Amino acid sequence: MTRARMPRPQEVAAARKDPRLLRALDERRLDEAWRTRGVCQSVDPETFFPAPNEPADAAIAMCGSCDVQGSCLAWALEVGDCHGVWGGTTPRERRAMLRVWQEQVRDDEEQVEAAAGGPPVRDKLLTLVPLGR
Ligand code: SF4
Repeated sequence: MTRARMPRPQEVAAARKDPRLLRALDERRLDEAWRTRGVCQSVDPETFFPAPNEPADAAIAMCGSCDVQGSCLAWALEVGDCHGVWGGTTPRERRAMLRVWQEQVRDDEEQVEAAAGGPPVRDKLLTLVPLGR
């Protein structure tokens, strides 16, 4: 078993501008039924789970023509890093994207909370009650 290394700062910086990630952020809640429309529905699943020393080019090329690429990548990032090709990305690419994804989702949730009048009452109380009491 190989250990996944942490993404380098330049990989995270590149992920911030990656059009695949930007599309996933845009489409993350748009298509609940994306799985039924994926190009990979009619392809041997092994194609999308190459061994670590095998190229993923064939799978990535298929994802490039898939209508649900954004939703697919969004799902993979929501569940965290996972094996195989999802939304035209490799696990290594997703590790860098995951940093950006988590920041963006947290920012979005804070904006929604602010628009709704702040955090839930329980969270407000936790900030008022000292810990250990
Ligand atoms: S983007 Fe790729 S992995 Fe995702 S549904 Fe489409 S073909 Fe399958």
